[in-house]
Amino acid sequence: MNIFCVGQNYAKHAKELGNEVPKEPVYFQKTSSSLSTEKTITLPAGKVIHHEIELVMVFGRGGHTISQQSAMDHISHWCLGLDLTDRPRQNEMREKGLPWFDAKTFPGAAVIAGREPFDESEIEKDFWLSKNGEEVQRGNVDDMVFDIVTLISRLSKIVTFGEGDLLFTGTPSGVGPLNDGDELELISGGDVKGSFTVTSP
Ligand code: MG
Repeated sequence: MNIFCVGQNYAKHAKELGNEVPKEPVYFQKTSSSLSTEKTITLPAGKVIHHEIELVMVFGRGGHTISQQSAMDHISHWCLGLDLTDRPRQNEMREKGLPWFDAKTFPGAAVIAGREPFDESEIEKDFWLSKNGEEVQRGNVDDMVFDIVTLISRLSKIVTFGEGDLLFTGTPSGVGPLNDGDELELISGGDVKGSFTVTSP
């Protein structure tokens, strides 16, 4: 199982990190072992971990060099997820012009909140992250720099993806650090899709 991710896919988020809005999708990966469906998020010791709520597509059918017309046919399920990120490490590596591998991959770095059968009208709803009862991030597919069809079609020109692979489609603005005791809710169109408690060793 592969976990593919897209960086800087919302203009306001790219700007909050001091980046230009990209001219082509920025893909990266997390290891499959970083996936977590646990209700407790355990932060790695001594790190500053940021939340990034994202719409996540689950592929029901693999493929390679998929056209834009058939891209959506490869999605079987969707969910909300958190692309947890060691921001200081990412900034450090970015300044050096090096890959951000260990800023994005550690145990529990890819959190997902259940999976639901794919329904285009569901993913068109606003989604948001509530931290301790306060909304901190809100997104909508309409605000993506590259839409889902484009993300899948272009990804499939780089790799062959398989059934069960995940695609994290990027985070809207409002990212910030998680702390011990934080209570998170991942919400789509007013429905709570997942609740998580953050703990720090
Ligand atoms: Mg992200």
